[in-house]
Amino acid sequence: MSPATQPPSAPQDRSDLSAASPFELRIGLGRGMPDQTVRDALATGDIGFLHSYTTGSTVDGPGVRVVAWTTGCQWRCRYCHNPDTWTVTNGIPVSVARAAEELGKYRAGLATMRGGFTLSGGEPLMQHRFAAKLLAAAKRMGIHTTIETNGFYGSRLTDAELDTIDLVMLGLKTWDPKRHKDLTGEDIGPTLEFARRLAARKRPVWIRFVLVPGITDDPEDMAGSAAFAAKLGNVERVEVLPFHQLGRFKWERLGLDYTLEGVEAPTQEAVDKALAVWRAAGLEAS
Ligand code: SF4
Repeated sequence: MSPATQPPSAPQDRSDLSAASPFELRIGLGRGMPDQTVRDALATGDIGFLHSYTTGSTVDGPGVRVVAWTTGCQWRCRYCHNPDTWTVTNGIPVSVARAAEELGKYRAGLATMRGGFTLSGGEPLMQHRFAAKLLAAAKRMGIHTTIETNGFYGSRLTDAELDTIDLVMLGLKTWDPKRHKDLTGEDIGPTLEFARRLAARKRPVWIRFVLVPGITDDPEDMAGSAAFAAKLGNVERVEVLPFHQLGRFKWERLGLDYTLEGVEAPTQEAVDKALAVWRAAGLEAS
């Protein structure tokens, strides 16, 4: 890149991006940036906002993963365990070059461990320009790329950008539209549309489904999601994730109204029942 086109350094470009886990509470790290700079960053993607990088994940895609956690999410899932990632400026502003440089440190190790890079959040496509640039940079380094997304802004990516993503981990929260709105605050339609587009382009997809007792565990509702996913033809596996309370402290610290106070993690029996529903549709579920 020539000096003339070099993006400006992000103000905190040398900040430590690593975190022990995404459960670290991070607030206001980009708050000093003028609004216009934030808007420009989102428009160009030359600067993004990251909660952190974590390494060594075995639950965010195939093999061992380096994960970049973006900030910004337009949904308000009642079970969200990282509500500090909802606000873009809670993240560290970082240039795409710096984010790629950080990832590059792990390139050889990721190849050895047959792993790769996962862009998660928050909702990564809230910063779709930055996401597209960082995923493309990872691809140029020969690193397997995955995005974890709720799919709502999937239409923001071009077909060529989609093709730089080796795997999409798509969250299906619940099937009934009213229940979806109540659980997430948003409509399910754009997510389903994105899923259909990925299917039409034959892009590999894993479905992520959070099992919350009393909220997402209705067998008929799960069967609706499962039937939809099975028909797509490109869903390689389904991950049923048992709800937990690890993020509750963040809701308290942020002064947010947490509505799942008394909800317990699902029993193994409940998890097995959920798995059976997804498997009955012909999907591999674990
Ligand atoms: S889509 Fe993800 S990050 Fe956004 S509110 Fe839901 S669980 Fe949280």
